[in-house]
Amino acid sequence: MIIDLRSDTVTKPSPAMRRAMAEAEVGDDVYGEDPTVKELEEMAAGIMGKEAALFVASGTMGNLVALLTHCEPGQEVYLDEEAHIYYYEVGGMSALGGLIPRLISSEKGLYHPEALEEAWRPENIHFPNPGLLCLENTHNRAGGRVVTPECMHEAVTWAKRKGMPVHLDGARIFNAAFALDMDVADLVKEMDSVMFCLSKGLGAPAGSLLVGSRDWIAEARKWRKMVGGGMRQAGVLAAAGLVALKERARLKEDHRLAETLAKDLAAIEGLKVNLDQVETNIFMVDLELPGTDAYRFVSLLKEAGVLVNAVAPGRLRFVTHKDIGEKEIAQAVKIVENVVEGVSN
Ligand SMILES: *Cc1c(COP(=O)(O)O)cnc(C)c1O
Repeated sequence: MIIDLRSDTVTKPSPAMRRAMAEAEVGDDVYGEDPTVKELEEMAAGIMGKEAALFVASGTMGNLVALLTHCEPGQEVYLDEEAHIYYYEVGGMSALGGLIPRLISSEKGLYHPEALEEAWRPENIHFPNPGLLCLENTHNRAGGRVVTPECMHEAVTWAKRKGMPVHLDGARIFNAAFALDMDVADLVKEMDSVMFCLSKGLGAPAGSLLVGSRDWIAEARKWRKMVGGGMRQAGVLAAAGLVALKERARLKEDHRLAETLAKDLAAIEGLKVNLDQVETNIFMVDLELPGTDAYRFVSLLKEAGVLVNAVAPGRLRFVTHKDIGEKEIAQAVKIVENVVEGVSN
């Protein structure tokens, strides 16, 4: 048995999703005729408290379409230096959107008001025009950390003062909402647009959603077509997404198991876990094993049957998800213990 703790994207569709996919009513969604896609979009907009939604192929496509819709080529996009949009999306904002990233230094994805102001470039003939502020919640590279509503509010207030709209990369926004024990619509109410993923912890095989005002989504729909995201009988995918959305409370179980796993790993000599920072389904483990770096440790774990990702030379990332239960967690702890013992001797 391989225990895969690399990401919450590795889950397989559940039997209920498979059934829904097989039975989905479909049509040509580019013609606006796929009832299942429509149902998913309406449900997503309702849950997020926005007027409308757009089904897209991936989170990366959702973010790109959002940036293209909000901005014009040559504008600056304010985002933090560890933001997924900047770090992991192949530079699409610049390569395809003609946009310039303006990096804000952040503390684990939390913007300090001073850092925002420090990054700000006022009107000057030499500077690009400001276009957009992006937030991310939960913050991926910060280890699934939750950005508090207060912090989001401060950033939005700042952006509004500067005349910029705000886009939220909410790939895992439901994880944030559950961790905060908050209604997700409340959490995102000040955002002009939000992208969230069905294919992360929610466990669907593919797809993300973009939500915003009716007019904005109509414009985004055209940009989606331009980047090749007009899918035809996409209801087969949307059907799995509907099941995933309805079962979203399951994410709380991932949080509970991540906490258990983090505590058990923290008790192993040579591993360091900052338990205060274990807030959702992702957490980081620092290695303090002389002579072994994270990349070698990852390959030793793999041989022993546990998959995790190294995110830095001394740092591993563990992620819990739908296909991981108590049994897998207990087994994983045993395997990690053995591997640590092996390298310590
Ligand atoms: C995964 C992720 C994305 C991109 O989603 P894909 O479906 O992999 O393209 C965007 N933002 C964050 C924070 C993510 O974790």
